[in-house]
Amino acid sequence: IEDPDVNQKSRVQDKDRVITPRSQDFNAWYLDVIAKAELADYGPVRGTMVIRPYGYAIWEAIQEYLNVKFKETGHSNMYFPQFIPYSFIEKEASHVEGFSPELALVTIGGGKELEEKLVVRPTSETIVNHMFTQWIHSYRDLPLMINQWANVTRWEMRTKPFIRTLEFLWQEGHTAHATLVEAEKEALQMIDLYTKFAYEQAAIPVIAGRKSRVETFAGASKTYTIEAMMGDRKALQAGTSHNLGQNFSRAFETQFTDENGQREHVWQTSWAISTRFVGGIIMTHGDDAGLMLPPRLAPVQVIIIPIWKKDDEKTGVLNAALSVKEVLQTAGIKVKIDDFEQRTPGWKFNFWEMKGVPLRLEIGPRDVSSGSVVASRRDVPGKQGKVFGISMEPSVLVPYVKDKLDEIQSSLLGLATSFRDSNIVDVSSYDELKEVISKGKWARGPWSASDKEELKVKEETGATIRCFPFDQPQGTKTCLMTGNLAEEVAIFAKSY
Ligand code: AMP
Repeated sequence: IEDPDVNQKSRVQDKDRVITPRSQDFNAWYLDVIAKAELADYGPVRGTMVIRPYGYAIWEAIQEYLNVKFKETGHSNMYFPQFIPYSFIEKEASHVEGFSPELALVTIGGGKELEEKLVVRPTSETIVNHMFTQWIHSYRDLPLMINQWANVTRWEMRTKPFIRTLEFLWQEGHTAHATLVEAEKEALQMIDLYTKFAYEQAAIPVIAGRKSRVETFAGASKTYTIEAMMGDRKALQAGTSHNLGQNFSRAFETQFTDENGQREHVWQTSWAISTRFVGGIIMTHGDDAGLMLPPRLAPVQVIIIPIWKKDDEKTGVLNAALSVKEVLQTAGIKVKIDDFEQRTPGWKFNFWEMKGVPLRLEIGPRDVSSGSVVASRRDVPGKQGKVFGISMEPSVLVPYVKDKLDEIQSSLLGLATSFRDSNIVDVSSYDELKEVISKGKWARGPWSASDKEELKVKEETGATIRCFPFDQPQGTKTCLMTGNLAEEVAIFAKSY
């Protein structure tokens, strides 16, 4: 550890762990990080992915946070079957139109042709409504608010690990309400919850807003979204919340008797976040050295590297490392010791750096005698190896580590926010929009043009309306495309 070049040397020695530089080839970098940090691997079927323990642990951290929040906001978890009769999908016209190209169908079961083909769920609105129709009778049964954690299948043509896979994991919330006002409030509440999650847990400064008609979910009246800017400045739709209106309740006759004895169709919402979010974390915070995880979602928040040269130092160093680990673990910090003897400290530094662990603590023989550890932040470049002499007293160590983790968390959010803000440009004409998009940035400008014109922008520039952000500038605006009055600005960007 005395050698400041240890990282560099072992990187050169250990070529098989080198990651393509991010600036050189963002896509190759992303795939390298996933492979080398052991997040996921390709499945044998095109577009499928095996989520490895370290990647799955990030998804679990996402689940743990959201699951608590869903319950706090009155939702209960349950589970629906994965097979849906094909006729269900056909019931809601725009839903079947939107999802048809992506459906996986089961036509044979137990060696026999099935009487009705089955859909492997791409999303569960139809089967949920089929059941809601049986469970909802009167206004007393409302609101009905459920969530399920499940896998879904969409036969995507272009795939990318985590970002777009044939089968992915997600949570899908489904609610039914007596009024449109309540459903709208719910849809907004859930996109707010996702926004807060993105900012506070993932340190991703998403932009929340409403999708354009063209981009609205197949079967929804309104779609709300959180859009994140990745390190290559492409947009990622990181979560969605739909106000479904009465579209599915009319298709499935999901009705209730209101307080006046009238039969009414319920008003509904659905909302989802998927394993795509893990890809969003990688592409927001990662750097040339690999993954960089926000402390609040990191499976390992602190890695302890014990370092010794002579055998008689080993016991003292390992005991000190163990006691530091115990102190931190007791304080609720996710901590791990890497005491593997077959690897050098330099190798371990690189390895855990690549795995994105926010904080590293080294303990060597001199630290044992002086009661100190050496701390390094994953997010502070060039400072690796800098010594912060701190006592191993729990009363000192725990607040020190917690402070550092908090600092890293807010520093990651700060960096991502300034990156985002320096890459969004206000435009007032189509020419300006084209120029900004061709530079790879996001364009923000007043928009009240038609769906056709929106599609023209997509065709000519590759950019789509990511959202009409909730956060709107003041003052009157004229549409960048038509010159007509516009009520809102839209954000255009190329996206994943
Ligand atoms: P949707 O039901 O289309 O609104 O999508 C719900 C959530 O799943 C959104 O957060 C999407 O970003 C995500 N998502 C959609 N398709 C995929 C896919 N093929 N792989 C991973 N995540 C997806």
